[in-house]
Amino acid sequence: MLEKNDMDLVRSARAFARAKHAGQFRKGEAREPYEAHLAEVAGLVVGFGGAAEVVAAAWLHDTVEDCDVSAAEIALRFGPVVAQIVAEVTDDKDLDRTLRKRMQVDNAPKKSPGGALVKICDKISNIRAVADSPAEDWTLDRQREYLRWSADVVAGLPAAADVARPAFDAELARAAEAVAARD
Ligand code: ZN
Repeated sequence: MLEKNDMDLVRSARAFARAKHAGQFRKGEAREPYEAHLAEVAGLVVGFGGAAEVVAAAWLHDTVEDCDVSAAEIALRFGPVVAQIVAEVTDDKDLDRTLRKRMQVDNAPKKSPGGALVKICDKISNIRAVADSPAEDWTLDRQREYLRWSADVVAGLPAAADVARPAFDAELARAAEAVAARD
């Protein structure tokens, strides 16, 4: 059971993320509101026993990367623990896509326990999207490449991600089958 303060933290992170991502949609053909991805990642983190700060960070994990939010604002509103986790799962958008993807593989082993849990849950959610509602402009090669890259990132995560590895592996296998069936 979360304490009241913990619930307040998660609630305010959820409200903040919903407001910031309002009007954004996932890439897939289903055109889900972006919030559905955040809810999925946060729900997975809860299911794997993540602490309140980790759940809050799950709600916020794309605000710095995809919204006009600074790391400093996250720290000010939600504290240094949440801000640190968000920073760990934020790509540097000044780098090109190939380099950003390389960095995710290279940086995976350096994640804190909270960062590792948010990262693997993010990957589970994104792989689920490739299985169920791939981006319309993604070729099958790009879908396959995305699955391979996700597996590389997850393979490098520290032990804190282990609790979620069976779920990731199952989702990866399902996504690979779905992509193969499109061929
Ligand atoms: Zn995400």
